[in-house]
Amino acid sequence: MAITGMQIYKLLPKTNCKDCGLPTCMAFAMQIAAKQKALSDCPHVSDEAQSELSDASAPPMKLIKIGAGDAAFQCGQETVMFRHEEKFHNGTGVAVRIPASLSDAECLAKVEAINNSVFQRVGEELKTALVAVEVDGCSDPAGRAKAVADKSKVPLILMGKEADRLKAALDAVKDQKPLVFKADAGTVDVLAEACAAAKAPLAVSAGSLDELAEVAGKAKNKGVEEIVLAFGSENVGETLRNLTVARRAALKKTFRALGYPALVDIQADTPELAVVLASSFAAKYASIVVMDVVEPWAILPILTTVQNIYTDPQVPNTVEAKLYEVGSPNENSPVMFTTNFSLTYFSVEGEVERSKIPSYICVVETEGLGVLNAYAGDKISAEKVIETLKTQGVADKVKHRKLIIPGLLPIFRAELEDDSEWKEVIIGPETASKIPAFLNEVWK
Ligand code: SF4
Repeated sequence: MAITGMQIYKLLPKTNCKDCGLPTCMAFAMQIAAKQKALSDCPHVSDEAQSELSDASAPPMKLIKIGAGDAAFQCGQETVMFRHEEKFHNGTGVAVRIPASLSDAECLAKVEAINNSVFQRVGEELKTALVAVEVDGCSDPAGRAKAVADKSKVPLILMGKEADRLKAALDAVKDQKPLVFKADAGTVDVLAEACAAAKAPLAVSAGSLDELAEVAGKAKNKGVEEIVLAFGSENVGETLRNLTVARRAALKKTFRALGYPALVDIQADTPELAVVLASSFAAKYASIVVMDVVEPWAILPILTTVQNIYTDPQVPNTVEAKLYEVGSPNENSPVMFTTNFSLTYFSVEGEVERSKIPSYICVVETEGLGVLNAYAGDKISAEKVIETLKTQGVADKVKHRKLIIPGLLPIFRAELEDDSEWKEVIIGPETASKIPAFLNEVWK
């Protein structure tokens, strides 16, 4: 029987200290009852309350950590089937495989490429999350795992079907808490024992969801705390169905045996197809996808998909409304304004940077709306722009009075020139991509 918020509240410290990120213990209790918080989020729960509540209050999908320390990758603890119901929490991690067939030098070169697989997009750092080391067919699995661990900046997955090789590799890097991939009905006993002893997470696989629940149950009974459900990509439709059914069983029926995040090992004939499959599985509902390619053209589209899916739909994507400096602008530098919708701002900022002309960007508060939506929704006006320029002290930064305005708002020109000190208003391009050419040609 589900435990109620009031039953949980009675066992909390009732100090309303806010250390859990919520204003009151009652609010925290309600969120636990709704499976949107874990008891461990309150650092002050007594041991007695812990043991009374921990099973009943555990989130329906367990949080799994792969790796040690600050570099650990975490996944799971999802609470909803559809993003609009609340939000998705822990973004899908892209893992890149190091085949056993690579020479030591090729292996280390690929690890280096994974380390460098880092991108900046709309103000966030996106990166390849994990390195997946194949140990089957490897003459020295322990040596290969150790060499990768020593060079890698991201946590490890040890990949193989041969339990002896996986155990040898785990033994060599157990301090790094790698994910051991993967145990099936035949190997679960021996691999679960090894993972339980090393406190490492274990991925489990089976031919059907019923069998998968059984194998996961066996791993848990052997003492493995952190489990990942492993799927292949040979039959795309079936994998998507299994991912969906497993998640529904965990979240809607609190079926603990499937209450773990999922990994999909992508096998595709072409790298292009692998990118499409990885993006599809990230959307429903893989927490980790394993790829063969590490080239930026393949990784960035998947990371972009993940970034979009895991954006909180209830929070407008905004940047702070203030005066930004791109490069080191001086008193002769261009001045322009845009809205505080982060995608708009970062598009403008990126293109100004590309122009190599240091500039000032005045960001106007528009409640996270882009230029046309802000105008249509009455969130931006010439009057508001004038007020914002004054508040941000823009006129003190430059000696000219030229203002570049978005090409989508030419209607502001007359009012800005009439009612402000900015007497030369220049209509800029309609799209950010044309800013570099515009600045280089028009700004003198
Ligand atoms: Fe209450 Fe614990 Fe949250 Fe503090 S951290 S407000 S004691 S639930």
